[in-house]
Amino acid sequence: MTVAKVVVDVPASQTNKIFDYLIPAHLDGSLEAGMRVTVPFGPRMIMGYVLAIEPNSVRDQLKPIKDIMDLTPVLTEELIELGKWMAEHTMSFYISAFQAMLPQALRAGYQKILHRLTTVELIEELEAIFAGRDYINFEEFVDQNGSLAKLKQAVADGDIEIIQQVKSKATYKTVTMIRCIASKQELDDYLAGLSIRAVKQQAVIKYFMENQEPIQLKQLLSNVQVSRQTLNPLITDEIIETFQAEAYRNPYQDQTIHRTEPLQLKPQQHQALEQISKALNAEQHDVFLLHGVTGSGKTEVYLQAIAQALTLGKEAIVLVPEIALTPQMVERFKGRFGSKVAVMHSALSKGERFDEWRKIQRKEVQVVVGARSAIFAPFENIGLIIIDEEHESSYKQEDHPRYHVKDVAIKRAETHRCPVILGSATPTLESFARATKGVYQLLAMPNRMNDSSMPQIDIVDMREELHAGNRTMFSRQLKEAIEQRLIKKEQIVLFLNRRGYSTFVMCRDCGHVIQCPHCDISLTYHRHQNKLKCHYCHHQEDMPTVCPNCESSTIRYFGTGTQKVEETLNQLIPEARVIRMDVDTTRKKGSHEQLLKKFARKEADILLGTQMIAKGLDFPEVTLVGVLAADSLLNLPDFRAAEKTFQLLTQVSGRAGRHQLEGEVIVQTYTPDHYSIEMAKNYNYQGFFEKEMALRRAYQYPPYYYITLITVSHPNPNQALDVTRTISQLLIKYLSKQARVLGPTPSPLERIKNRYRYQCMIKYKEEPEQKRILSKILSYYEDMIRKDDLMIQIDLQPYQLM
Ligand code: ADP
Ligand code: ZN
Ligand code: ZN
Repeated sequence: MTVAKVVVDVPASQTNKIFDYLIPAHLDGSLEAGMRVTVPFGPRMIMGYVLAIEPNSVRDQLKPIKDIMDLTPVLTEELIELGKWMAEHTMSFYISAFQAMLPQALRAGYQKILHRLTTVELIEELEAIFAGRDYINFEEFVDQNGSLAKLKQAVADGDIEIIQQVKSKATYKTVTMIRCIASKQELDDYLAGLSIRAVKQQAVIKYFMENQEPIQLKQLLSNVQVSRQTLNPLITDEIIETFQAEAYRNPYQDQTIHRTEPLQLKPQQHQALEQISKALNAEQHDVFLLHGVTGSGKTEVYLQAIAQALTLGKEAIVLVPEIALTPQMVERFKGRFGSKVAVMHSALSKGERFDEWRKIQRKEVQVVVGARSAIFAPFENIGLIIIDEEHESSYKQEDHPRYHVKDVAIKRAETHRCPVILGSATPTLESFARATKGVYQLLAMPNRMNDSSMPQIDIVDMREELHAGNRTMFSRQLKEAIEQRLIKKEQIVLFLNRRGYSTFVMCRDCGHVIQCPHCDISLTYHRHQNKLKCHYCHHQEDMPTVCPNCESSTIRYFGTGTQKVEETLNQLIPEARVIRMDVDTTRKKGSHEQLLKKFARKEADILLGTQMIAKGLDFPEVTLVGVLAADSLLNLPDFRAAEKTFQLLTQVSGRAGRHQLEGEVIVQTYTPDHYSIEMAKNYNYQGFFEKEMALRRAYQYPPYYYITLITVSHPNPNQALDVTRTISQLLIKYLSKQARVLGPTPSPLERIKNRYRYQCMIKYKEEPEQKRILSKILSYYEDMIRKDDLMIQIDLQPYQLM
């Protein structure tokens, strides 16, 4: 008896294993590994993924598989292995790993159905709902206010059974097609027999005398200029017939995309490409770090490297941050490779994404350009993987499974023996450190394509503004610069860090920020206790009344929202037309694009927004970029705060003045001497890298140490704290003596949706037993997780320390 190894769609620790199911005779031979199936699980039917098929099982009394949901496997052998690896690597459930790898349309939907088993009369209420039918949907029962107690009784009596059905949500779009089923002779005869007045039918017949290919109904009607009714007599007379064909939803069909030819490479591009070609040809899974300033021509290098992979008969995956995946970006790839390209990102509808995925699965395309999840493209012969803007934190999935796309890319590259290119103007410290050590190969492109210099960055010291009596958040220099642009009818982008959830405390007189003495991060102000707390260790202190540095009394917490800035702007410069872009104004689907388009049409002078406007910012008429408060990013309770500040300032500046008009960047800050701001001003990546690495080493942060973040949440704050404390104690007891356990401490976001959150952190160099110990802790709390609303999140590679 052959059995199938199945992972079931129940994300819970007790079911996080591989189950054996019998393959019934009628499915034997058609079932393959990688297919989705429906299987009985307890009293229900649920979906599962078949990971393998084996000749026999050590268990007996196995339940049989009920049904197959796919005609061809949705997971390749490689992806099955990758999913298992990912689940283990990130400590998530197998099922979550596999779900993350597939388009949402392939997730199962469940439908409850009530089946009447008895012919004897049911109680009146149920009889009324069934209304003579044998099967009804459970929803209908609920809609009609059916009594659950009575239903339960009927089930217990064996009068009704509840069936759970698994429904695939995948939908296929079909179109109506027309084909000719008459021979040439028959067409001639038919045409001769038509009345002279039947001009329209004549036109259709003539069309098919010249064209044998089937044609889409809509297309035919428009080509021949007739209506649907015209065709009816021809269908009745069996001259033509209609049929349904599957079609792809094509989100980009309206664009006419210009084909582009490879450019003659500049020496720095040529050198980079040469290294990549070597690895491509030798089938080596080298990782290249392409460190090129904005505008150095990285994309052209990607395009030509992809072309080489295609020539070798292989496929390529290109990852771009979601927010940078603009139509212009897509066009650059479609322009070079045309219909060989599939595009995957979240702005597409579920159906569109499924269609793009099927093009990959059916080998109809060789290139995929997409956001994070495109790394799971079901290609079987990958020649090249590219991760553009590799420093972007959106490449880390913040939900189950908490994978980093770079790890998955490198894993797949090893299997396919192909190179990986990580591109960035401001690589992460982790990547640059690896490149320095020779783990990655560094490819440097220090020059801009048009040899223009990077725009000038002016730093404005906000402490001096205060001393000069200006208490607004607009310095005199910035205000003046805005007014000049308004006169010249040029545009302005103003950038504010995302809404501060937690805030830090800063002296406006001297810029002093209160920091944790142990952790090199800013302390966070907790309003209700009037205390400052560290979110890494448990250090806390009272909110000071005067600055410990200069004794000024202007020390207070800091944090301004975009809305407040907009109000101030309206008061200061009432004639300016402002578009505000933040989480509040972009909640609706498509509103992000709409606001940007509005700005591009010059219907506003100022675009004011959060991080989300830092990328894809490519408006020729923008000549001024203002960063309102560099400090609010710099003082986030996150050891990467300085790195993120450096990246952001560099990125924002690289965007200004890409075109004819010269650009200017103004950065306002209370800490103008901070190295991340100074080095960004001078475009000194190397200098920043060295300084920041020294600090990371001193305070034991990545890339010198690893960090694990454990976040515990519960509706009751004491409960959350208790569990976190116990976890810390268990970790101290069982981890090696070299590991440092920090916490428990409240999370920077202390309460979300009425759940209180505490965290603890492990810092370590090598801890081979860590995962085993953490799993033990999780199973210890399993009951509380299941029954008492406790949540424990483990992030083995945290990027957001909130
Ligand atoms: P990056 O991706 O590094 O920011 P891009 O690839 O966008 O840089 O290149 C900047 C500009 O230079 C683009 O308009 C691109 O078309 C142009 N460009 C790139 N390579 C060449 C080349 N070899 N010759 C001429 N123009 C080029
Ligand atoms: Zn001070
Ligand atoms: Zn601390």
